[in-house]
Amino acid sequence: MITHPFSYQAPSTIEEAIATLGRSRDGKVLAGGHSLLPLMKLGLAQPDTLVDIRKIASLRDIRAEADGTIVVGTLATHRSIAEDRTIGAKLAALAEAAAAVGDPQVRSRGTIGGSLAHADPAADEPAPTLAFDAIIRAIGSKGKRDIPAREFFKAPFETALAPGEIAAEIRFPAQPGRTGSAYLKFRHPASRFAVVGVAAVVTAKADGTIERAAIGVTGAAEAPFRATAAERAITGTKGDAKAIAAAAAKAAEGMTTLSDLAASSEYRRHLVSVYAKRALERATQRARG
Ligand SMILES: Cc1cc2nc3c(=O)[nH]c(=O)nc-3n(C[C@H](O)[C@H](O)[C@H](O)COP(=O)(O)OP(=O)(O)OC[C@H]3O[C@@H](n4cnc5c(N)ncnc54)[C@H](O)[C@@H]3O)c2cc1C
Repeated sequence: MITHPFSYQAPSTIEEAIATLGRSRDGKVLAGGHSLLPLMKLGLAQPDTLVDIRKIASLRDIRAEADGTIVVGTLATHRSIAEDRTIGAKLAALAEAAAAVGDPQVRSRGTIGGSLAHADPAADEPAPTLAFDAIIRAIGSKGKRDIPAREFFKAPFETALAPGEIAAEIRFPAQPGRTGSAYLKFRHPASRFAVVGVAAVVTAKADGTIERAAIGVTGAAEAPFRATAAERAITGTKGDAKAIAAAAAKAAEGMTTLSDLAASSEYRRHLVSVYAKRALERATQRARG
């Protein structure tokens, strides 16, 4: 039960939504409601206004632009992302992360924009968003702002979005030829969130040498991160089992890993290397076709 009073607004344009947020004291955007409403029921979030953006149909679109950028509207549900053919073909790690979220009900209602804006440290989609170097396009009263994924996630439940800004779309840049990607997670047995999740994106040269690798890790630390030491270690190698294992062993380098009832910090570090190895293997295999 939600015990505190609030006003509910459902505007049909983004301009109206921004103006409504601007007039509120501490209004919040409502997307799928699968993270916000549980917090309101627990009294942990008490917005005076809920601005339901689900009537803004344009925010739901998934489209490819002429230069190959894939634009995912903030209201695209986890299910629609998991089932989208272009995403499956070009951004497999994103499709796999979306398919790994919760259960069918959560995937049908929950949105990518809600997942990124909520910034739960154990959420799945931040990992591929980071690994693909996506841009989060935010719109607020001062206009549009593009936020690189690497600058977006600040701390648990804290992002670079300013008060009153709405994340409108997530822009995934075109990937070069011979690029493969994969997302794998160690699932919490009860909540299904990622105890650790790893997205790997690998580009190979014609002779199979690894030209570029990007690894996004979620669940392991207070905020999702790029495993830069592992990325450097695999780049320029033949991408064979030994090189992948050596790179994956560095995937948690420099990070303070979380310790909680689900996993100790030490176990999480172990999981990061195991899942980095598996994701790199799969992405490399896909890059080579
Ligand atoms: C039972 C259960 C299991 C789950 N399991 C998983 C899991 O395995 N993996 C996983 O990643 N997630 C999981 N989730 C969370 C789920 O993915 C949520 O859908 C997601 O975290 C939030 O998306 P939403 O659309 O529901 O956002 P909402 O709940 O509507 O909003 C969440 C927060 O984001 C803000 N917000 C939403 N959209 C925008 C926007 N466009 N611009 C600015 N701010 C915005 C809201 O104001 C709010 O603060 C689970 C949830 C449940 C209930």
